[in-house]
Amino acid sequence: MRAKLIILGGGASGLMAACAAARILKTPQSVLVLEGNGKCGRKLLATGNGRCNLTNLRDMRADRFYGDGAALAPLLSAYPPERVRALFREMSLETAADREGRVYPRSMQSSSVLSVLLREAARWGVSFRCGASVSSVSREKKGFRFLCADGEVYESDACILAVGGAASPKLSLGGGYPLVKALGHTVTPLFPALTGLLCETSRKALRPLAGVRAAADVTLLANGKRAAFSKAGEKSEVIFSENGVSGISVFDLTAKAYRELSCGSSCALRLDLLPGLHAERVADFLQKTQARYGDSPAGELLMGMLPAQIGWALVRALGTDPDAPAASLSEERLQNLAALTKGWEIPVTGTRGFENAQITAGGVPMSELDPLTMRSAVVPGLYLSGELLNVHGPCGGYNLHLAWATGHAAGTAAARTLLGGRA
Ligand SMILES: Cc1cc2nc3c(=O)[nH]c(=O)nc-3n(C[C@H](O)[C@H](O)[C@H](O)COP(=O)(O)OP(=O)(O)OC[C@H]3O[C@@H](n4cnc5c(N)ncnc54)[C@H](O)[C@@H]3O)c2cc1C
Repeated sequence: MRAKLIILGGGASGLMAACAAARILKTPQSVLVLEGNGKCGRKLLATGNGRCNLTNLRDMRADRFYGDGAALAPLLSAYPPERVRALFREMSLETAADREGRVYPRSMQSSSVLSVLLREAARWGVSFRCGASVSSVSREKKGFRFLCADGEVYESDACILAVGGAASPKLSLGGGYPLVKALGHTVTPLFPALTGLLCETSRKALRPLAGVRAAADVTLLANGKRAAFSKAGEKSEVIFSENGVSGISVFDLTAKAYRELSCGSSCALRLDLLPGLHAERVADFLQKTQARYGDSPAGELLMGMLPAQIGWALVRALGTDPDAPAASLSEERLQNLAALTKGWEIPVTGTRGFENAQITAGGVPMSELDPLTMRSAVVPGLYLSGELLNVHGPCGGYNLHLAWATGHAAGTAAARTLLGGRA
């Protein structure tokens, strides 16, 4: 089967690209989406805990992105968050922002976002082949040739590679990197980002905390020095597990932690579990509580300020038996306990792998494509979009924003070029 434009990957960026291109090309069936999974948009459905945080109204600037983020400046000026909302409004999807600027579909269901994209694609006559896992793409004289794992062959004049990355392979097929490399592009080293950190050595301390959440300012230390920082926000918190720490505040530090650990640095997280409170105020609180409830266990001293399990764990981390009477703690120990609430250091031994990551750090360098049209500078007629690129953003809608912007830019440029105009 032949189409004018084949989009490889029916995820967020591929679907947006398909809608943008088909709307311009107008002729039904001129755009074909090949998706390896049985259905399109499986990862999209899982986003934002099933609610799909699709963009962010705050700080959508190039310096918020990692990797080749600096190269995104022209694209982000062309696609500010309001434009992304407008693109969805044109598909009859209303969105709503929370107080931190995170934008969700008004229905609060990611399935609404996927459904409107599929409906818009149908409106403009986009064809789909799901279950079409492409094992090779080659540039031929007259365009592109796609060979599927089941032997099926497809051809097109132009191609958009929207194959995603290596993160969460259960939701997205992955495996696009060999395809893009075979076409002549390079791929920077890949590592999992926006995932939890493993803290093996403190396992004993962490086990009782499994499942506990807390708002905390989090600093990543590499060889004892501050390497990255994540401020506690209304929705960002740390979540303890029996062998590590995760949560939005930690996710934003994992790419940096991975890089530091790979270079042999010794890493630790420093948690300020009472952001906004001075250590003296905490010490004062502890002294008063000790005076009132000296017979109670020391583990309960922080009960009125922090989740009970954390208070207990901090006393244990101090080297004090939490079952001992609170009155047995010396003034110095109380001061140390107050300091610990403001700077609990937990050694980091690794990051959770791609299986649990939300996004891939690394990918095709932005220098190998035009940053406004996503057109490959290496292969004529090829466009690249989404997670495949060497850019990723923090939690909060930045990565989907990138998928929409790069997908829309690629789809628009590919269609205009196919019509003979300049994209
Ligand atoms: C649990 C989770 C929650 C997330 N929540 C958010 C959030 O709330 N906000 C946010 O901004 N970001 C979020 N993200 C990140 C976001 O999902 C990605 O940034 C986005 O999906 C990337 O879009 P994409 O189109 O590049 O890749 P994908 O959405 O992964 O789509 C790529 C598609 O290509 C297909 N494919 C790959 N290789 C082949 C092949 N060889 N042949 C055929 N098909 C192929 C895949 O099956 C897939 O469907 C989350 C990610 C996860 C895992």
